[in-house]
Order: sequence, then structure tokens, then C-alpha cells
Amino acid sequence: MGLIIFLNGEFVPEERAVVSVFDHGLLYGDGVFEGIRAYYGRVFKLGDHLDRLYESARTIMLQIPLSKAEMQEVVLETLRRNNQRDAYIRLVVSRGAGDLGLDPQKCPRPTIFCITATIQLYPDELYEKGLEVITVSTRRNIAEACNPRVKSLNYLNNIYAKIEANLAGVPEAILLNAEGYVAEATGDNIFIVKNGVLITPPAYAGILEGITRNTIMEIARRKGIPVEEKLFTLHDVYIADECFMTGTAAEAIPTVKVDGRLIGNGRPGEMTWELIKAFRELTKVDGPLIYPGEAAAACSCNCGCSCRGE
Ligand code: PMP
Repeated sequence: MGLIIFLNGEFVPEERAVVSVFDHGLLYGDGVFEGIRAYYGRVFKLGDHLDRLYESARTIMLQIPLSKAEMQEVVLETLRRNNQRDAYIRLVVSRGAGDLGLDPQKCPRPTIFCITATIQLYPDELYEKGLEVITVSTRRNIAEACNPRVKSLNYLNNIYAKIEANLAGVPEAILLNAEGYVAEATGDNIFIVKNGVLITPPAYAGILEGITRNTIMEIARRKGIPVEEKLFTLHDVYIADECFMTGTAAEAIPTVKVDGRLIGNGRPGEMTWELIKAFRELTKVDGPLIYPGEAAAACSCNCGCSCRGE
């Protein structure tokens, strides 16, 4: 059965969820979006995702005609219409339809849509074995041009890098910033572990400040693990004890080979696994309930599946 999509105030079957060919989101990548996850009947970190969506919109001067509370209800109601408790959610606000010129002032009404579907970025065995990645020649956009902190519909920079990864036959790629420091991956943030310290590039390195990234840092700090946001180079990655990537779709995934160098002993690291497990636990209890009044039962087998105790 097809999905029900929220589109501009209506819930419509997916075959009727169509936007104008004059939409500047399509013509120019002019718009903002979020990728969000629902687990166990709750929308994980929904408040943080909405904050980032509205911050991205503010920077591109896109007035979202819904309050955050209304947007939250859009997400929850779309999940309910599809009877979903676990989902990958794509929330998009584009500039809307205008003329064929660039001018956003010619677009009177933003287009808003919400898709609640599923996603599996990597097979389960890759979480056990760890990823192999390469560094690509494409550099991350500089903040003065197209700021990576804005989650805009303009992902060509990342797609260039993804094409390089595809050509090399690896599933993810590391991008450096214009100064040559490690920035992030095509759709994930990067972490390394060295001598018990968890290290990730700071927001000003030219990254999207990932919500999974921030959650992982929060979990680590709560566990008493020292966390540093600092610039580092590929040399630091090659000599790290552990490395992993984080993102809403990927969650946290061990990374065991970079540019042909084994990281640590070439197997997913201990701290990486400790953080992944804690992250998965948090997904059971964080975020607003899709069905208010329903106590979102964690799975009875405690394996992190979505059996909901049934
Ligand atoms: N960096 C980029 C470029 C991304 O597109 C994403 C999201 N897919 C991330 C990092 C991770 O962000 P989050 O944890 O909020 O999904």
C-alpha cells in the first residue's frame, strides 16, 4: 500500500503528492530539510530537528508559515496516518513555486511536505565489520559560500563526494575543508578516539552540526568520557585507535579502514560499541509519543528491535 504524504496542509496518497516544476526547491535547491527517525512510537530528538530546520530557514530568509508546534503535529499526524511507529521521516520546506528567475521574492508560498518512510543505509553486517571509506578530492563547501551548517536542499557538494566514493567502490567518503582539515562525510559526521578521548571536528570546521553527533557527545560526557571538538588532519584519523560515523539514517557506524589504512586493529572499537549501545537505548525513551497516552514499550527481548513487547 502506498504512503500518505503531508503536502501543503493536506494528507494525500503518494501518487498525488506532486509539486510544481516551477518550485525553486527543484529549480535551484532553494529550501531546507530534515531527516528524522521515529523509534518505538517516539520521534527521536524531534525538538532538535525542528530547531535546526527553523535555523536553516532563518539563514536563507525563508519564512515557514507554521509554528514549530504546528510542524511537530504535522510530523506526528503523518506517522499516525501511515500507522507507523518506526520510520525515517523527511520534512522539507522549499521556497515554493515562482518564475524561472532566481529571485525568491517571486515565490509567494513555501512548499511544505513530510514523507514518513523507511531507510536502511547499510546492511547489518557492516555495523559488525565496520566501514571502509576513502578521502575524496571534493572539498566541503566553505561557510562564506554555502554554509554546511545550513541543511539546505543544495546537496551537490555532497553528491560530488558520493560519486567519488561510488567510483572507488566504498559506501562513504571523508571530505576535507578548504584548509585541509577533516570536516565530515557525505551524509554523516566523523569521530575518532585517541587514548581514551573522543574527538570530532567543531562546527566551524565546515560541517553540518549533526543531531546524532551532538547526542553521541552528550552520551559520552555523561559516561565520563573526555570529549573534544577540535580540528584534526587525516594523519590523526590514520593513527586513531577507533573511528566511526554518525547520522540520523546511519545512527553510529564503526569505520575500520580509511584510504587503505587500518584504523586501530581494523575491527570496530570498544568505545564505539559502548556509545552505539547507549545511543540505541536512548532511542527507546527520547522524543514525543506518536500516540499520546501510549506508553511506548521498549522491546521485551531488549535487543533494540521494535517488537514493542508483543
Ligand atoms: N553531515 C551531513 C552532510 C548530513 O547530511 C547529515 C545528515 N544526513 C549529517 C552530517 C548527520 O546529521 P544528523 O545526525 O543530524 O542526521
